[in-house]
Amino acid sequence: MSQDGYFDYAASAPPFPEALKRFEEVSLHQFGNPSASHETGGKARETLETARTGFLARTGFSDGTLVLTSGATEANNLVLRGATMPPKGRALVAEDAHSSAHILEDSEILRVGPGGRISPETLAARISKKTSLVSIVHANNETGVIQDVKGLGAVCEKARVPLHVDGVQALGRLPLTLSELPFSFYTFSAHKFGGPRGVGGVILRKSTLAAQIKGGGQEKGMRGGTENVAGLAAALVALDLSARSLESEVPRLRRLASLLSEEIRSGIPGALLNSTPEGIPGLVSASFPDLIGEEIVVEMNLRGFAISAGSACGSGRRVASPSVMAMGRTKAQALGTVRISMGRFTTEESVRRLTAALRQVVEKQKALA
Ligand code: PMP
Repeated sequence: MSQDGYFDYAASAPPFPEALKRFEEVSLHQFGNPSASHETGGKARETLETARTGFLARTGFSDGTLVLTSGATEANNLVLRGATMPPKGRALVAEDAHSSAHILEDSEILRVGPGGRISPETLAARISKKTSLVSIVHANNETGVIQDVKGLGAVCEKARVPLHVDGVQALGRLPLTLSELPFSFYTFSAHKFGGPRGVGGVILRKSTLAAQIKGGGQEKGMRGGTENVAGLAAALVALDLSARSLESEVPRLRRLASLLSEEIRSGIPGALLNSTPEGIPGLVSASFPDLIGEEIVVEMNLRGFAISAGSACGSGRRVASPSVMAMGRTKAQALGTVRISMGRFTTEESVRRLTAALRQVVEKQKALA
């Protein structure tokens, strides 16, 4: 499949060659263990700490602390467990959170309202002295909805409850200055913005986290294990490159998303759009009632396009996307959802080709349904 047919940037973005070059350089030349006392270890440590400082500066939050993990799944696990141990109450977890944040047995669900947003009033009505943590998603990975982090953070601050923001789909994809956002913990994953897979972390404001992976006491005792030095150095290069292009990429991707949304709206009868122009730039979520998203994905793949379903297929069972259902769609609508996400290689021409193929696939599947 050519990069031209790749429309799944929200799942993983093609890496920047410059980031991979940096990964190779650091792996080859700074191979020491950053915890070792000799010079080779010291060089690796210096590279790690320079990348850490650079990464925090690039996110606009030099005062923060960055705990490096193997990606956002681990980072979310670390926050959800590490910030609620010993249990002080119950965590309130947004309904549309990624599965890696729905991991506590006794957490409570914070419902999203129409349009996929959680209002500060809704949060204020649910939060209490017994709330140990509030966990929300900055930008939803399926629908692209962006939450009012400032408004929700203000409610948490007033109630003195720590706020976790899953920033996986936001960092590197939206212009952000993290120091302006009132979170306690912000999690990210490098492969979503052109860095390597398996690299992510938690950015902390003041608090600390109880380690969930225990070992040599690395990462200020919050995450054991030899650090992925090359991974963080490469992630910084990717973050730099994405941040630099955001000014032109955000409006360009918004234009492409609006073209695609319009083509779907006018060209495919019955289609429902879940994404809005204010969401993640370049992400379009559409539901085709009574069809199966996963089957559309398979057919599109045969025609040379990589898109993704808004539903997860677990052990042969089709599961309607909770994020799409949470926006008020019925099960029959949510099951027929696809997510089309664009990035730096997407062009207007490739969007038009994709739309033509999508129209044919939907028509074919409607005839079979
Ligand atoms: N949170 C969100 C919102 C995501 O989209 C993802 C990746 N789909 C994750 C967490 C997990 O990231 P990773 O798979 O890189 O661990």
